[in-house]
Amino acid sequence: MGLQDIQDRIAKACADAGRAADAVQLIAVSKVQPNERIRDVLEQGHRCFGENRVQEAQGKWPEFRETFEGIDLHLIGPLQSNKARAAFGLFQFIHSLDRPKLATALARIAQEEGHCPELFVQVNTGEEDQKAGVMPAQADDFIAECRGMDLPVRGLMCIPPVDEEPALHFALLAKIAERNGLGGLSMGMSSDFERAIALGATHIRVGSAIFGERVPT
Ligand SMILES: *Cc1c(COP(=O)(O)O)cnc(C)c1O
Repeated sequence: MGLQDIQDRIAKACADAGRAADAVQLIAVSKVQPNERIRDVLEQGHRCFGENRVQEAQGKWPEFRETFEGIDLHLIGPLQSNKARAAFGLFQFIHSLDRPKLATALARIAQEEGHCPELFVQVNTGEEDQKAGVMPAQADDFIAECRGMDLPVRGLMCIPPVDEEPALHFALLAKIAERNGLGGLSMGMSSDFERAIALGATHIRVGSAIFGERVPT
């Protein structure tokens, strides 16, 4: 596996689904990966990466940005309100907007800073206790609330339960997005991104299939 292989598989999945090859953005999830592996993917020309912790991202990306231009960073993990300002300085996209308190914090900082990362509302499609995300039944209200604060909500994100067929969750997410007029769908990881593309994913989050297994730190 590796970057080229994943890009080929994305192109094929798009063709199979009758979608344009550039309809899907590949977010290379670099959390916990050694810097040499990240540098290697940067040197192959890839510029779109995902991290799940603000602090970890702060530790490596400012330096990569001195060497490589045009890097887009996506925050795909939970965001605490007190880390929101730091996230603004680092990320162009946040995929984990999931509660009013965070929405309020982001709206306040956006006003102060004069810009805001593009946002995805995370939906807990499996209604799992331990998982972040707004419940499907609350999603419409929460999206409206965020829009009422002038937040740039671009789409929805989900992480399906490990032991369930992901396609059911991707289809549910697509349905909620459609009825709310949202174009962005952040769904699909190493093991299921082709199914996500078939169901309309616009952003897939692929880590281990590009970089190899995550090395425990
Ligand atoms: C780690 C992570 C991924 C990537 O997982 P892989 O299985 O390595 O592709 C995708 N999305 C989120 C939210 C993650 O935390």
